[in-house]
Amino acid sequence: MLKHLFIRINGIVQGVGFRPFIYRLALENNIKGYVLNDTEGVTIEAEAEEENLEKFVKGIKEEFPPLAIIQEIKIEERPLQGYTRFFIEKSRKTDKKRAFIPPDTNLCKDCLKELFDPDDRRYHYPFIVCTHCGPRFSIVKDIPYDRHNTSMAPFPMCPECQKEYEDPLDRRFHTQPTACPVCGPHLFLYKNDKTLISEDTDEIVQKTYEFLKAGHIVAIKGVGGFHLACDATNDESVLRLRERKRRPFKPFALMTGSIEKIEKFLYVSPKERELLLSKERPIVILKEKKKLVSRYVAPHLTHIGIMLPYTPFQYLLFSLDKDLILVMTSGNLSDEPICFKDEEAFERLKDIADYFVTYNREIVAHSDDSVMFVLKETPFFVRRSKGFVPAPILTKKKTSLHLFASGADLKNSFAIAKDNVIILSQYLGDLESIITQKVYKEAVYHFLKIFDVHPEVFISDMHPNYFTTYLADELAGGKKRLKVQHHHAHIASVMAEYEIDEPVIGLAFDGTGFGTDRKIWGSEFLIADRKEFKRAAHFSYFMLPGGEKAIKEVWRIGLSLLYQAGLPLDYLPLKKKYPVDVICQMLKKKLNCPEACSIGRIFDGVSAILGIAEVISTEAEAAQKLEEEALKTQKFHKIEIPFEEKGEEIIISTEKLIKKIIELKDKGLPASEIALSFHEALIEVSFKVVLRLKEKYGIKKVVLSGGAFQNRLLLKGLWEAVEKAGFEVFLPKKVPLNDGGIALGQIVIGQTIVCGRE
Ligand code: ZN
Ligand code: ZN
Ligand code: FE
Repeated sequence: MLKHLFIRINGIVQGVGFRPFIYRLALENNIKGYVLNDTEGVTIEAEAEEENLEKFVKGIKEEFPPLAIIQEIKIEERPLQGYTRFFIEKSRKTDKKRAFIPPDTNLCKDCLKELFDPDDRRYHYPFIVCTHCGPRFSIVKDIPYDRHNTSMAPFPMCPECQKEYEDPLDRRFHTQPTACPVCGPHLFLYKNDKTLISEDTDEIVQKTYEFLKAGHIVAIKGVGGFHLACDATNDESVLRLRERKRRPFKPFALMTGSIEKIEKFLYVSPKERELLLSKERPIVILKEKKKLVSRYVAPHLTHIGIMLPYTPFQYLLFSLDKDLILVMTSGNLSDEPICFKDEEAFERLKDIADYFVTYNREIVAHSDDSVMFVLKETPFFVRRSKGFVPAPILTKKKTSLHLFASGADLKNSFAIAKDNVIILSQYLGDLESIITQKVYKEAVYHFLKIFDVHPEVFISDMHPNYFTTYLADELAGGKKRLKVQHHHAHIASVMAEYEIDEPVIGLAFDGTGFGTDRKIWGSEFLIADRKEFKRAAHFSYFMLPGGEKAIKEVWRIGLSLLYQAGLPLDYLPLKKKYPVDVICQMLKKKLNCPEACSIGRIFDGVSAILGIAEVISTEAEAAQKLEEEALKTQKFHKIEIPFEEKGEEIIISTEKLIKKIIELKDKGLPASEIALSFHEALIEVSFKVVLRLKEKYGIKKVVLSGGAFQNRLLLKGLWEAVEKAGFEVFLPKKVPLNDGGIALGQIVIGQTIVCGRE
């Protein structure tokens, strides 16, 4: 029997090849009617025999284009209209405000085939792209998302490209960035003094390969910015890159041509493999199996981050040598943002790179590669950026207000929200330097423009001295302004992801967060909902002599922990000379010694006490080294850390923890065993506190979040213990565990406060 269906699809369905997909599917299933784009998404009217309609709807749900995100499909049966064919209806005046911009993704299979097909007109063309792949977010300047509003504007299409662009059955139908060697951008190879070496793709690929093999460092313009590349198997090159980048410890990411090559020297689980091969192409942190690359790639670490090629140029480069492994690190100087403008790159990277591969199309929005790791076959973000941004997080509830959340000052990502959509920005890094602050501001204005968001509510952290706090003040003008406690935001970000409304036991373990008592928190057990929280437990406070300085000079924290526990200070094994006496005076007089209770700082201090770290060059370095030390052994000694209930709060004794560690040290045990015992002790006491909180509050949902959980031992141990005890455990999967997820938490708390719970 003939039937008529009226189908509405909401989500990211515009500019992703949805209409041609529907058109083909309709022809295949003998459907009559039409498809059209409108303000809210895509509308389809479909008439056919019932069974054909069923197949058609199934096809929509299962085979939709790779860049589309379907949020909702509504289907209604309506009276027959008597259509005689299927057609693509001209768009009704679309509301540009609803259109989304897809993330930048890996080259698709079809484009890859054409790239290496000598008979194809895009053979070896490094800007090959289609509706299903390639750059998007990085090239969009304004809405509506049309070619003239992208950095492809200076490249008018040639007749052949135009023909494909207008053909609904072509893979490049309405592909805004489509191009070919006749009409599109092209590559340039320069020496670092800007002398032009070549403009010919094949020659550039060949020469780049030769330069890299000869040990040179090459800056290569990618999708979201420049990479700095060098031969990962060449000690000298890697070391030179470290020196020039002023980055002694932080591991470099790698790139190689195939998954098979990765499996030769790193362990790859099924989930890790899936991530490596995904269209988002993140860096995945994997355990090393065999030494194939220089030990300077990730000094002191057993895990290495690696990714597979995703731009045509990268595919061309790796096609020359299947054994090639490159360091591919963000093109910047230590903590500065990634370079993405040519002029700026030549200026800032000229002393790092020997050669530059660039092209004559502008990168509008920058992004670093995303970074992920897998634990218990569950993927976690360390950095959510290229490939994922600006894909929205869609919520069930709609809010009438537009919101802006400025995030936190470390590993920053901000967020905007309207309707049922929350969009997180790319990774913006640490907002200490003026240059990062400038890039952050530009990114905020860019997001507000391209997503047409006009915030009425401005949310930030409670930290009085954060740049993000000032910025929210500045942007808010006289509008509604909210401040959210850092660890509450960590927990709320996870509640947002799983749309949890009722109170949870939230464990936020991290480095630094400003507390409501103006002290530094970071070992928080909160009873929290999406609006409020109660601080239920935490480790006892200790002093950070010199404040910020102690975070870099972790030996100060070691000293402070010993002092606090009433232990002799010469337990601190220092390899270099430091002003120990001065710090002791500061501790005694409590001079410039802010109080902290954060897990991150406890890791720093214990690391110092065990002689593993003294002064660090990058955040969490001491903690990472301590974890690596613990991973060297399976043997640990039980440490019981007592806690006591002081009024409503449970206080876990940091002093007792340190005393027990010194007892183990006195027994002459190796650092690895003490390090593992320390991890196990943290897990055990945290688990016990969770049990006590369940008794007290009757809550069985547990949320774990915060940067300290990037420690695999800690995360795995606590997760398993709590799950085994029958709790429901929730972990951030859509946003990073670290401060990169804070803005999402700020948004939902803001929404709940301003718009109410329902
Ligand atoms: Zn493609
Ligand atoms: Zn063309
Ligand atoms: Fe944090």
